[in-house]
Amino acid sequence: MGISFKEAAQMWQFGPDWPGQACGAKTRAGTPCKNPAVTGKARCRMHGGKSTGAKTPEGRARLSALHLKHGRSTTEAKAEAKRRAQVGREIRAELRDIEREAIAGGLLAKDWREMFEPKPDK
Ligand SMILES: [Zn+2]
Repeated sequence: MGISFKEAAQMWQFGPDWPGQACGAKTRAGTPCKNPAVTGKARCRMHGGKSTGAKTPEGRARLSALHLKHGRSTTEAKAEAKRRAQVGREIRAELRDIEREAIAGGLLAKDWREMFEPKPDK
């Protein structure tokens, strides 16, 4: 035969030229796994491609806790930040209305801010 055992073995391997989705997991040798990924998944059957993920509530909670770093980006935290921002906008809008009315009613000078913080070049 014209080809070596190594060449024949390579014809059967999923090497770097293989066009499909390779697993790419880090092997014990430190190299990326070249096995084909399970259809629809990113990893081969030996590197978690067959796993369907955590199913029990305890398992899902454990995974969630594992990936949570500080909780500042949870859905709840983001909703609370949004709510606080909206409260701030409403308060500032109300203060603007009060200021406008006070100036219109003559209770406040138009340049009242400068009484507390004079402009340096005036
Ligand atoms: Zn793999």
